[in-house]
Amino acid sequence: MSRQIYLTGKIVPEDQATVSVFDHGLLYGDGVFEGIRVYGGKVFLEKEHIDRLYESALAIRLEIPMTPAEMTQAMRDTVAANNIVDGYIRLVVTRGAGTLGLDIRRTSNPQVIIIADSISLYPQELYDNGLQLITASTIRNHPGALSPRIKSLNYLNNILARIEGTDAGTAEALMLNHKGEVAECTGDNIFIVKNGVLKTPSTEAGILEGITRNAVIRLAKEAGIEVQEIPLLRHDIFVADECFLTGTAAEVIAVVSLDGRTIGTGKPGPVTGKLLDLFRKLTRSWSGERQTLTCL
Ligand code: PMP
Repeated sequence: MSRQIYLTGKIVPEDQATVSVFDHGLLYGDGVFEGIRVYGGKVFLEKEHIDRLYESALAIRLEIPMTPAEMTQAMRDTVAANNIVDGYIRLVVTRGAGTLGLDIRRTSNPQVIIIADSISLYPQELYDNGLQLITASTIRNHPGALSPRIKSLNYLNNILARIEGTDAGTAEALMLNHKGEVAECTGDNIFIVKNGVLKTPSTEAGILEGITRNAVIRLAKEAGIEVQEIPLLRHDIFVADECFLTGTAAEVIAVVSLDGRTIGTGKPGPVTGKLLDLFRKLTRSWSGERQTLTCL
């Protein structure tokens, strides 16, 4: 069945959803995007994703040609037009068509693309047994060059690291920052558990501030688990009791080895299991109303 795509003001069949070959999103990766889940027909943590999209755009001085409220409505309309009950939304804003030069003043008509589709998760086997990671030799973008906090259309940094993981036979790859500290994986944030304390790199480490990450931190605090956002080294992962990743697509998934070295018992641990459980309860009970997680 043909998908219905929102493209700059209209919902059209996918074969009519086309953008210019001169769009700087294509020519230079000049644009921003979001990946968002739909649970029970409602957009999950909608405001958080819309806020991050507009912040990413502000950071690259891209003016989105619609208000956050209009964007929210367009997203909901696209979900409805595709009858998505449980699925995934990809929201893309490009710089628009321009000349072959870099000058943004010579571009016009930023394109807003919204795709609502089904989602393919990691195989169940990886949730049951945990996934293996390697450390990529490609470091995460230096925050002074292109801040990882910007969810931009330029994902080559992550793609190069993901290729290393794929070559090594792993589904994800760990990326270090320019200081040699743990940053994040190519499309997921990383956590460890040590002596009952949950630890994850702070945004200063040069990471995307994941919306799933933030939700898991809040759920953990509500469950009485101490959370520390601190610099982590690969050493901390090797000696951790548990390790897991968070992301919109992955939700919460255990990591059982890094570079061939077993983490903890080599099986998904109890704190990971509990947080996955709490996260699944949150998504299942998601009403789409302005539901907030109570913050401690
Ligand atoms: N880090 C990177 C580099 C990502 O691309 C993503 C999103 N796929 C994440 C972390 C996780 O963020 P979120 O929980 O908002 O999906």
